[in-house]
Formats: sequence, C-alpha cells, structure tokens
Amino acid sequence: MSDLLDIVGADLTVPLPGGDIRFAHLDYAASAPAVRTAADAVRDLLPYYGSVHRGAGLRSQRSTFEYERARETVAEFVGARDGDAVIFTRNTTDALNLLARALPAGTTTVVFDGEHHANLLPWPSPVRLPAPATPDEAVEAVRVALSSVRGPALLAVTGASNVTGEIWPVRRLADIAHAYGARVLVDAAQLAPHVPVDLDDLGADYLAFSGHKLYAPFGAGVLAGRGDWLDAAEPYLRGGGASASVGDASGDVVWATGPARHEGGTPNLVGAISLAAVCEALLRADRVALLEHEQSLLAGLGGGVSLFGGRAPRVGIVSFAVPDPAGVADRLARDYGIGVRAGLFCAHPLVRRLGGDGTCDSGGLLRASWGLGSTHDDLDRLATALIELGVYP
Ligand code: PMP
Repeated sequence: MSDLLDIVGADLTVPLPGGDIRFAHLDYAASAPAVRTAADAVRDLLPYYGSVHRGAGLRSQRSTFEYERARETVAEFVGARDGDAVIFTRNTTDALNLLARALPAGTTTVVFDGEHHANLLPWPSPVRLPAPATPDEAVEAVRVALSSVRGPALLAVTGASNVTGEIWPVRRLADIAHAYGARVLVDAAQLAPHVPVDLDDLGADYLAFSGHKLYAPFGAGVLAGRGDWLDAAEPYLRGGGASASVGDASGDVVWATGPARHEGGTPNLVGAISLAAVCEALLRADRVALLEHEQSLLAGLGGGVSLFGGRAPRVGIVSFAVPDPAGVADRLARDYGIGVRAGLFCAHPLVRRLGGDGTCDSGGLLRASWGLGSTHDDLDRLATALIELGVYP
C-alpha cells in the first residue's frame, strides 16, 4: 500500500495489565482514522491558508485555487458528467438534507426503511418501503412503488449498509427507477471508503459521502450530481457566496448558480482539500487489492446479521446480535484494547428488524468495521476476545 494511504496513529497503544498493546481500531464505519495524504495536504496548505473566493492577495488566490482544484479532483473521483455539480457539504447528512430541500415541488421520494436515519429522515413524506429480504424483492418493491407515480420522483438508497455491510443492488435499482423516469440518490457514506463510486457505473443521479469516513477527518462531505434541480432550488444557506447580487430593497437578490448557490458562507477549505487528497490517492491506488484485503479480513469473523441472507457482497462491516452489546463493547475497550461500536447505529428500524431490540444506549447490536491499515491480527484479537467473553456468535 502506498505511504499516502498509511494510517496516522496506526501504532497507538493501550495500557493493559499485561503491558501495552496496539489499539485495534475496529470502528471505521463511524469515523475512519486519517490517512497520511489527508494530514499532509493540510500541513502543506496551512502556510498559504486564506479566504476562498474572497480576496486578491497571495493567500486568497492560492486558497481559491486549491479549493476549486479539490472540487475537480472529487469530480473525477465520482466520474462527474457534463451538467453535474460537486458541492462541498459538512457530511453526508448535510448533503442529503441539501438535496431534500432542492427537490422540485411535488417530487415523490421513495426509501427503504433499512436506511441510516440520514437517508430516512430528510425526505419530505417519503414512500417508505420495508427493508427487503432479497435484492430481487428490493427491485420489485421499487418497481411497484414507482409504477403509479406521476411527476418528478427520487429513489434514495444506500450503497452499503452501515449495519450489515451489505452492498445494495444499486445498479439494478437505478435501472428500474430510471425506467419509470425517477432519479436516484446513492448514500455512499459506507460505499465510497471501500469501492470505486462512479456515478454512471452505479446508475446514480446523485451521490453523497463524508470525508471523516473516507480517512479525511476535517469536516467536509460531498453532494455530487445533476445540477439542474440544484440550480433551480432555493439556496441551502442564504448569505454571502450564495448571492450573486443584492439590491437595496429587501428580497431583491439574484442567487448564484453552480456550487456557490449552496455553499453559503466561507467554505471549509481544509476539509475540501484533505478530502480531495484522499480521493486522488484512491484514484491512483489498486482498489481491487485493497478490497481483496478487506474481504480477507471478513472471512476470519463469522457471518454477522444480514438483510439479504448472506447473498450480497459486503464491505468491511459486520454486526452481531449479542447480549448486552454496550457491556461487551466496554469490556473489549477496557480489557482487550479493541474499539468497536454497540447500539442501533442511527438505523433503528433496520436494527430492530435484525433482532437488536432496545434503545441506542442499552441495546442494539455489536459492530466491527475496518478498512485501510486494518490487519488480520486486529480481527483475530476480536474473535479471541469474543470467545473469551462467551459471546462469539
Ligand atoms: N449514511 C450512512 C450509510 C452512514 O453510515 C452514515 C454515518 N454513520 C451517514 C449516512 C451519515 O454520515 P454523517 O454522520 O457523516 O453525516
């Protein structure tokens, strides 16, 4: 693996009674650790840091140049087409809320209730389909839901589940949605860190993802996709940057078009350039080899809960139904130097359906997730600890 994708803090240790032990971070799905190129990009930028689009001097020129270059890199990362916009947001939640507010009046939105809340709650009165038991069932449910829809429609679907790690049949769902004239948003928060996310290959009209899950923890996310609805919509944030000209009378304003329309206020330059640095490194990396490594880690660790009955491929995420998941997660951290997550993972309907009843604090599932820099040793230690704790599934 290239140095650019080395993990910052890969050798963190935890003091245990038997001596210090390397911290096994297995919670990438919540926030992935930073990679070297994200940190380097910030370090290299800071001497020149200035305001983006708001100044004439050296710092502002350089900052504006780097910000727009970051946009171009992200455009390449997602395979942006003519007419697509790349908008920097705070995270996936922000990106999805932005798109939800940009929908033309009367748009029908369709979602499965197996979604993360970020892709469940922003849509206005969505048609909610029960989480499907098979990819075929998903496609059929979308067909039925969209066949009676008139006017603009949007299917909002996850690329990979943050609970089961399963990769959804996005391309098939997109094809059927397009056959009924609907557009497709792919929530790629958990997909982008693991597999290439090309808009055309996925069949997506829009993609959303977060920098902090893509090894760039500086507070930026992305919404990429068709510019027409976005240009026609009310600005997401009203203010400087979003306005092209403002007259003396209240309400006398011409809004900007393009990404500026929805990037009101001073943009997050550090977030954008660090996110783009990772995109660039991933574009050049051997992603097949990276995925194969992540998959080989999966093989060492039982099945985990599954929506599609083990039929769908998975990214490096696996959740287990165990008694007292929060207690187990605590013991793993305290006694074994392993970091996982317990709870309902902001996907309450899905986790309840998969058997992890309870509240976010006291129930749910136990989730391990990994990515760049994760090792067989990390997963072996987890399996051994779960066996010792008597909860290996
Ligand atoms: N979608 C999925 C599938 C996720 O896993 C997450 C984060 N857990 C989100 C959306 C929301 O991402 P963020 O918190 O970065 O906005």
